[in-house]
Order: sequence, then C-alpha cells, then structure tokens
Amino acid sequence: MTSDNKEIWFVVGSQHLYGEDALKQVAVNAEAVVAGLNGLKIFPFPIVLKPVATTPEQIGAVCREANYRDGCLGVITWLHTFSPAKMWSVGLKLLDKPLLQLHTQMNAEIPWSTMDMDFMNLNQTAHGGREFGFMVARLRKPCTVVVGHWQEERVHKRVSEWMRVCAGIYESRHLKVARFGDNMREVAVTEGDKVEAQVKFGFSVSAYAVHDLVDVVDAVSDADVAALVDEYETLYTLTDHVKKGGDKRQNVLDAARIELGLRRFLEAGGFKAFITNFETLKGLKQLPGLGVQRLMKDGYGFAGEGDWKTAALLRIMKVMAGDAKKGTSFMEDYTYNFAPDNDLVLGAHMLEVCPSLAVEAKPTLDVQPLGIGGKDDPARLIFSTPAGPAINAALMDMGNRFRLLIAAVNVISQPQPLPKLPVARAVWQCEPDFATGIEAWILAGGSHHTVLSQALSVEHLRIFAEETGIECVVIDRNTTIPALRNELRWNDVAY
Ligand code: MN
Repeated sequence: MTSDNKEIWFVVGSQHLYGEDALKQVAVNAEAVVAGLNGLKIFPFPIVLKPVATTPEQIGAVCREANYRDGCLGVITWLHTFSPAKMWSVGLKLLDKPLLQLHTQMNAEIPWSTMDMDFMNLNQTAHGGREFGFMVARLRKPCTVVVGHWQEERVHKRVSEWMRVCAGIYESRHLKVARFGDNMREVAVTEGDKVEAQVKFGFSVSAYAVHDLVDVVDAVSDADVAALVDEYETLYTLTDHVKKGGDKRQNVLDAARIELGLRRFLEAGGFKAFITNFETLKGLKQLPGLGVQRLMKDGYGFAGEGDWKTAALLRIMKVMAGDAKKGTSFMEDYTYNFAPDNDLVLGAHMLEVCPSLAVEAKPTLDVQPLGIGGKDDPARLIFSTPAGPAINAALMDMGNRFRLLIAAVNVISQPQPLPKLPVARAVWQCEPDFATGIEAWILAGGSHHTVLSQALSVEHLRIFAEETGIECVVIDRNTTIPALRNELRWNDVAY
C-alpha cells in the first residue's frame, strides 16, 4: 500500500451560539493546529481540515463524505467549543471510518492575567469534549481518545499510532488472500469462519489448486530465473552448496522459478497475502521457502499450513508498520530453553521467517533437507533476529467471535551459535515471566502461529481490535493468571 492520495480528515466541532466572530476564530485556530501538525512532518498521512461543523446537516454531510472518499483513512475530531452532541448523533452513527477524538485546546497554559469571559466562551474543550464523548459512548462507537496539548510529543506519538492503524483498517477492508490448497488436515486453530472474517475485517480468502500456481511457475523463462539468481548473489551470502558449481545450485534455480511464479500469480490476482500447505505441493519441486521469505520482505502476508487468518494479520500488520526500519514476520513458537532464571522461547518455522527481521546481518542463502513433505531440498534464508522489544500476535476463531491475543515479548541476542539449525529464528523472553506468559497464552487458546513484530506495539493492535469489534486479550507485565481467567470468563459473557 502506498500513501498516495490517502489522508486523515480533521473536523472541528462548534455551534452558532457564540456569534460569527467566535466561529471565525475557531476556524483560524483549527487551521493553525492542522498546519502545525502537518508541519512536523512526522505523521504517515497528511491531515486535511474540513469546514467547522456547527449543524446536524453539516456534520451528517461530512461523515457521509468521509465514508465515500476512498482516500479518507480516518477522522479526527476536536471540540474547540461546546458543540451539542445531539447534532452529532446521526453523523456519527453513519461514520464508517476510524474515529479519533483529539481532546486538546489551542492554548497550552491558562492566560492567567488576561483571561476574560470571551476567552472562556471560545476555549471549551474541557466540557465540549465531554459532551461529544457522551454521544460516542452512548452510540457504543469505537473511538480513540487522545488527551493533551496538540504540541506535545506524547500526543503526536499517539495520533501517529492511530493513523498507522487506520492504514491497517483500510488494508483489511481491501485485502485479498490466496490459498494454495486448504487447511492442513486435522489442525484446528488455523481453521475458522471465512464469511465472518470478511464481515468483520473485510478481507476475502480465495482458494486455488496448486496446479493453478504450477502453470504460472512453469511458464517462467530461464532468463528471468538467471536474473533473479544474480540478485540473490548480491543480497545474500551463499553457502558452498548453492554457489555456482555447488551440489545444490539447481535447487536455488528451482526456488527462483517458484518465487517468480508466485509473484506473478499474486500480482495478476491483486493478492497481498497467501498461504501454502506442505502437504499439497504436487507439481512444485520444493516447498516455497526463499520466495515466500522474499515476498514477505516486500510486504506480502503469509502463513503456512493453510493458515489464512495469520497470513491476513501479517499483511495488515505490515501495512500498519509502514516503512519502519524494524521487522514483522510470520512466526511459530518452536521450542523452549528451560534453564534457571533463563527460560526462553525459540521461534522459527520450517523455512518461512521474514528477512525484514534481519536488519543487522546479511542473511545466508542455503539449501538443506526438510525431512517432511517428501520434496526436493528447499532453498531458504538463514539469519537471527536482533534484540529488542516485540509483540507476538495471534488471531483465533473462538466460535462466536474472533480473539486477538497479543503478548509483549523481549527478543534477545541469540545466546549461543546454532551452527546446525538451517532456518531463520528469533529467541525471546516472555512477560511477565516465562511460566505466566506461556500459561496465559495457552489458557487464552493462543495459536502456535503468530505474527512477531518489532515495529508495532501492543497499543497498535488494541486499537485495531477496538475498531473491528473483536475481542482483545493482552499478555504483558501486568498479567496474572487469576485475573486473566476472569477476563476470559467475562469476555465470554460480553460476546
Ligand atoms: Mn506451522
């Protein structure tokens, strides 16, 4: 997704009670705030000021317009003065774009020595924002509320965060996921209600036979394969097996052909996420590893074994992350390190970990046996993930609702070399501690497949869950098992 023609609307609420001069001043102040915010050049999308909203007709019109304008990702409101909220009820009910209430005022400090009643009439956010908040609450409408002076960095950070989620919501409503094959036979957590997912999130999931892909792969020319392998040579460190003349060189050529075929198939169909299933690969020489990794790096969502929910979530999270320098990848909790005071999770997959996580070192390109699937040895990129805070997110269909489970984790530098492990990986510590974090994950029915992101925070996904109306469960340093059990029990009633 590019940010071309995407924007955030800014609607300032007032009313006619205070006279034309007051409204003119409100408009001038609104212009100054929007120009000031845009001037910072820190927001992912431009903020576009709309005329001051003072009547139900005007408010209804701007909300309808926001819905119809594809480029409008979300709406920020600021109640500069009191703006009776019955006027907002119909418009807000119609509004189908993410909403942020910026609870701010023009001045930072009270002008103690000069403040008169005119000033009081003009600067009423403190109670105007409450009136607006009541209507939003009464409508049970999702809304992000950001409180603070509009020049504060903390305010900018939160508004920016919300804008990133707006991009994710937009993507969710436009996303098409391609499945090559179906769910891996008896696996439960990767299944779900695709119709309900489309209703809730907007994305569609379409199945294709692997042969539909094989036809495209087989049509790729040798020249295109050679050119792509040249690119591999410049980007990665090749092992002796895969260098020119190496015993596994042909497997790299085959992998390049699969990558080109996959890419063409996805581009032709407008798909931004896809799944494979290592049990249904007839006609492909190897499980797509390298190509999948490189497509993820280019922004595609992916998950293995038919897991369309995680593939879609990865794409949406990649759009939210935008051009962040840190990575976001498909991940699977693979194995544990139990050691006194140093319990760790090692995450990886058979092959498919996104090299956006490999920000510190050049990945190694290798071909190694896979052991399952009964195919040729697949090509893959190998690297480890740099240390730093991250989130692990999983989306489950609980039967009557989707649950988004988010765990705050702490990726650490790989404590020891793994010379025999031929896949990319990340090693992390759990919050609040290993035993509680994992117990909570299992109690919440969390999937083994996740999206690991070092670019996004828990807060991004909380907003996403609010906006899409799904359940959100967070595991972080405040988690305790009794409270989590109660939360899950109460959520069952709530949904
Ligand atoms: Mn898996």
